[in-house]
Amino acid sequence: MLQPLSWMVLSTRVLFFYIPFIVVGFFLEEITACLLVATVIHLSWHYNNQKKLADWLWHDRSLIPPEGKGSWEGVFNGIYKLQKRHRLRRKELASVIRRFREGAEALPDAAVVFKTDGSIIWCNRLAEGILGFRWPEDAGQHIGNLIRTPAFVDYLKGRDFDEPLELVSPVNSDKLLEFRIMPYTSGQNMLVARDVTLIRQLEAMRRNFISSVSHELRTPLTVLKGYLEMMEDAPDASSAMWVKAHHVMAEQTARMDSLVEQLLTLSRIEAAPEVDLSQKVDIPSMLSLVEKEAIALSGDKSHQFNFTIDTDLKVFGDAEQLRSAISNLVYNAVYYTPANREITVIWRKDPDGAYFCVIDKGNGIAPEHISRLTERFYRVDKARSRETGGSGLGLSIVKHALSHHDSVLQIMSEVGKGSQFSFKIPTKFICQ
Ligand code: ADP
Repeated sequence: MLQPLSWMVLSTRVLFFYIPFIVVGFFLEEITACLLVATVIHLSWHYNNQKKLADWLWHDRSLIPPEGKGSWEGVFNGIYKLQKRHRLRRKELASVIRRFREGAEALPDAAVVFKTDGSIIWCNRLAEGILGFRWPEDAGQHIGNLIRTPAFVDYLKGRDFDEPLELVSPVNSDKLLEFRIMPYTSGQNMLVARDVTLIRQLEAMRRNFISSVSHELRTPLTVLKGYLEMMEDAPDASSAMWVKAHHVMAEQTARMDSLVEQLLTLSRIEAAPEVDLSQKVDIPSMLSLVEKEAIALSGDKSHQFNFTIDTDLKVFGDAEQLRSAISNLVYNAVYYTPANREITVIWRKDPDGAYFCVIDKGNGIAPEHISRLTERFYRVDKARSRETGGSGLGLSIVKHALSHHDSVLQIMSEVGKGSQFSFKIPTKFICQ
């Protein structure tokens, strides 16, 4: 078994090589000449081995090193071991790359790896199909030269990839693609493009369906309501059974009417692709109206209202949507807060926007419900919500209305203590 050379071994070998020459030199009384001859032989042997090593490294393609003797045996074998280790590593690396490529090819999405300067390193087969890339011809090309849509170029320049970008496919205008970019390794990003045509079509169909059904229900409901109102004063409608039936029918029709109204509002807000945010919305006067309505709604429950409003704070936005958001949050506080408790409404300017908040001292909401409150038809307590005439659509309307104003609904609640619903309209929407 080969051992690495130590100073001890090397010096012993040199000594053993020179001793015969010193002995011969001693007897011939020519020690210097003999040492010179020994040094010349020593050097020639080293140069010969050096030449063998250079020939092997530069010209010989075989893995097996030349045969070396003495100290050179360790050097040749050491290099051989190193080469073997590198070959093994290269093989492992190649198999990792192959596995990654096979995995990326199996993806149902187009995948493109590119450097942060935009030059393409690699793409899978689907990228050729839905993005029109050619591999390997497009290697090194700037990704912005292949997807030239200005929205994509801006997205790339913006470097803010938290939200995906939706664009029409550069090779097929019937296809809608969702682009996501994520950091891959240092100095590289990965773009994943997914075909979302079908999903968006289905979403549009669902929205249209809800909107059409709600519209269709409106007319028969109006007719029913009309007849019920007429029958209220009918001379032969005095039996107890009739009075009760009439009351229930009127109540349920009103409930259905409010549900249809809310469904229509939701589909109107949700379907609006571009919202006109140029209207000046007078939130303070909107809130003074909402305050009056909240007091009327509270009625016998006599809540203690505390409205703290910055009367100069107006914003640009969609008046109908902001009214829906604000009134839903305030009315919910009235519906779900027990009698005589406090309800606080705040509208004020903050360093990063206009802040709206409704705080109630109600019974609060358990943590497991909070993330689901903005889902359509989600209600914590169905029976309680039905009593208040709730449909579970209110907070969904709020969420969509706020999203059109670059804002999100924040909900904080503690069981037994109360809830806080708030949102912030970014500074860019504040009227100066
Ligand atoms: P609903 O029409 O049922 O009120 P929402 O979408 O407005 O529907 O609210 C969803 C659910 O959230 C309600 O059913 C209710 O359980 C709960 N919720 C909303 N606001 C409050 C609040 N201020 N306090 C306690 N629970 C609330």
